[in-house]
Order: sequence, then structure tokens, then C-alpha cells
Amino acid sequence: MNLVFLGPPGAGKGTQAKRIEDRYSIVQLSTGDMLRAEVTSGSDLGVEAKGLMEAGKLVSDEMIISIVANRIDQDDCKNGFILDGFPRTVNQAEALTDMLEQKGLKLTYCVSLKVDDELLVARITGRYTCAKCGQGYHDEFEKPSKEGVCDKCGATEFSRRADDNEETVRSRLEAYHNETAPILPYYEERDLLRTVDGMAPIDEVTKELNAILG
Ligand code: ADP
Ligand code: ADP
Ligand code: ZN
Repeated sequence: MNLVFLGPPGAGKGTQAKRIEDRYSIVQLSTGDMLRAEVTSGSDLGVEAKGLMEAGKLVSDEMIISIVANRIDQDDCKNGFILDGFPRTVNQAEALTDMLEQKGLKLTYCVSLKVDDELLVARITGRYTCAKCGQGYHDEFEKPSKEGVCDKCGATEFSRRADDNEETVRSRLEAYHNETAPILPYYEERDLLRTVDGMAPIDEVTKELNAILG
């Protein structure tokens, strides 16, 4: 099963992708995580991406397309993958179709998570993750059962993303509406689009997704 998760920042793509990963034994490929790893490593690519990410702007199509093409070739993708955060422009969507075709692969679905803008700011500004295992949490909506301790791995260190502040969220939302939302008709025309209500509680969204994916 090869999936694309589409939705504005904070829609719940990462949260749901982690759950689908376990259920179907496929891997989550988050282009945001890949870029953050490049920034941390200080690579040329990371240096180029850093300023754009801090400003809430998209990095170039060429850069991201080659990263994804290489990543999909790795062994752990054999069973399938969930693309989280890619494609983000119509150009990237077209490149993905070509790339998969060349590898003899096809997309199963593009799942669109719909959430109103007003809710997204609260979701993003309250988001944090376990520094050890990457499990995602929220100050209000998804607290660990014991405060300050990761449910999944027991670690006590957490981190917040530099771009998860209100100002950057506004430009990321703008980038979503201007550049990413126009992808929806692309998948609709190909009968690959499945829409999920991302405003519902986390477990409800998971149920809806499971019903679609089977
Ligand atoms: P995305 O990957 O789409 O940017 P995340 O999955 O990281 O979004 O979710 C953003 C924040 O909102 C996280 O802190 C997460 O715990 C929380 N969250 C995700 N889905 C929901 C939901 N359905 N209801 C409430 N909070 C949610
Ligand atoms: P979110 O999960 O909140 O939507 P991501 O972690 O996916 O955010 O992305 C963080 C930042 O990384 C984006 O604001 C953008 O600068 C960059 N980025 C990630 N994926 C892409 C992509 N496919 N194309 C261009 N830029 C990207
Ligand atoms: Zn953890």
C-alpha cells in the first residue's frame, strides 16, 4: 500500500501516519523530518533549507523530489509507504506520478485530512515530541498519561520545532492554500482522493482511516 497524506500543517498527518505504519507494516516518509535531519547535520542541503523552513516557505521542488526518489528506493519501503508532507505542489505531484511509474509502483490513495484554519494554530503551537522516540504529543489534546514521561519509551526529554510558532504557522497555512491545496483536483481526477474529517478526535480519525484503507 502506497499512500499520500495531504493536509495543512497540524492536520494530524504525522499522528495518523504513525498509527497506519504499525497497522499495515509500511513506513512513514516525512519530508519535514528528512529536511530537519539535513538542517541538524549541517549539510549543504540543510543550510539551503534552514532559512526557508524558519520563514514557513517551501523549499525548491528539485531538492525535495530527489530526496524522495532516493528514499523510496531503500529496502524498508518494499512493503509500502506513507508520504507525509510530499507532494506539496502540483509540480511535485506530477513528479511523483512519473517517479513511481519508473519504479513500477502506483499510488493506492491520496488521503486528505480536512481541518479549519482556526483550529490549526492551536494544534501547532501546542505540539511537542519525545526527543528519544519521536512520539508526538499536545499540551491539551494528547498528553502523555504520566506528565513529563513518554508513554512509548519512558524518556523524559521532549522537543518543540523552531517553526511551530504562530507567525510561521500563518505563512505555512498560506503556502498550503496557495500551493498545496491545488493538488486535490489532481488526485480527484485520477479517482485516488479520499477525504477524512480531521476535526474529529484522534481515535475517530483513525477509525475513519481504517474504514477507507480496509
Ligand atoms: P501534521 O503532521 O499534519 O502537521 P500532527 O500529526 O503533528 O500534524 O498534529 C499536530 C498536533 O495536533 C500534535 O500535537 C497532535 O498531538 C495534535 N493532533 C493531531 N490530531 C489531532 C486531533 N484529531 N485532535 C486533536 N489534536 C490532534
Ligand atoms: P507540517 O507537518 O507542520 O505540515 P512539515 O514537517 O511537513 O510541516 O514541513 C516543515 C517545513 O519543511 C515546511 O514548512 C517546508 O519549509 C519544508 N518542507 C517539507 N516538505 C516539503 C515539500 N514537499 N516541499 C517543499 N518544502 C517542504
Ligand atoms: Zn518516547
